[in-house]
Amino acid sequence: MTRVGVNGYGTIGKRVADAVAAQPDMELVGVTKTSPDYGAEAALRRGYDLYAALDDRVAAFEDAGLDLAGTLADLLDAVDVIVDCAPSGVGERNRPTYEAHDTPAIYQGGEDAAIADASFNARASAPIRNADSLRVVSCNTTALSRLLAPLDESYGVEKARVTLVRRGGDPSETNRGPINDVVPDPATVPSHHGPDVNTILGDVDVDTAALKAPVTGMHTHSVNVTLEAKPTTEEVRELLRGETRIFLIPEDAGIDGAGTLKDYASDLGRARGDLWENCVWEESIRVQGRDLYLFQNVHQEADVVPENVDAVRALAGDVSREESVARTNETLGVGI
Ligand code: NAD
Repeated sequence: MTRVGVNGYGTIGKRVADAVAAQPDMELVGVTKTSPDYGAEAALRRGYDLYAALDDRVAAFEDAGLDLAGTLADLLDAVDVIVDCAPSGVGERNRPTYEAHDTPAIYQGGEDAAIADASFNARASAPIRNADSLRVVSCNTTALSRLLAPLDESYGVEKARVTLVRRGGDPSETNRGPINDVVPDPATVPSHHGPDVNTILGDVDVDTAALKAPVTGMHTHSVNVTLEAKPTTEEVRELLRGETRIFLIPEDAGIDGAGTLKDYASDLGRARGDLWENCVWEESIRVQGRDLYLFQNVHQEADVVPENVDAVRALAGDVSREESVARTNETLGVGI
């Protein structure tokens, strides 16, 4: 049984906590919060032990009447792996604390790749050996890695060009934007996403350009890949249909965007309407000569969650990556 803590119970942290709690070979020891807000109260109601992320906030929890099991230091001493889900850049500030406690750590994609021994994606990254820390790459990098790995294995990727239309903020981020525009972000091309894919797939030539749109539900990728081989459109559809973390949206499903995708996930009974899979429109997959085109949507709050579970096993478990992915998919219900 691997004992796991989550430091930073926000958008990603609360989902990772639920996913870890669902694993028969893992124990969620507890989660941290910086302040006694609704998230802290909800964590306690879910039965999770709550720890103060910052020592000087203990009194605030006491004043709010929320019971603490301890501070971050106590949590670090009680776990085999800590999953850092703090805001971008804060993971780097937390790193010395994890190292001082000798606690193996998993970081998120908002951190620089140099923070960890290796960057991680369960489908595509190199085998992990003797690592004390991993970085689960960002939502966009996760989705692109899942897509490009099978294409490269089967047909060879000569060059991938991807335009990312990114959501302006998560649904709970009331202070984000834009609210009435679509803005290049960054305006320089290529964006950082391509190099980030290369932390997973070192050899794949990929250029990315990014925009930000006034939506909160999902990112949309417009993908063009020049392949070395010339598969048929149907062969590529079959290949992607065989990937457990890619959902091929059937043409006649009536799913036309993030709204209907999230509605479908909610109808399936998924907590928070989460979509852990890349969502690829089947009819958008098209091969012309050696050029492949497709559109995929990425639920930014969810696709990295199963990857974090597999990262825990890569650091502290004793099963193969394939076995880990199968267990994670089975326990969470990944795969449509
Ligand atoms: P978030 O702001 O929703 O949650 C972060 C949580 O950490 C908050 O509850 C915050 O109060 C808490 N926190 C702040 N300072 C802390 C500290 N010093 N120690 C511990 N906790 C602290 O952020 P998020 O969207 O969940 O992002 C977390 C990480 O995941 C970032 O690296 C981000 O880039 C990455 N990520 C985010 C998304 C996304 O779309 N939201 C997708 C993939 C990866």
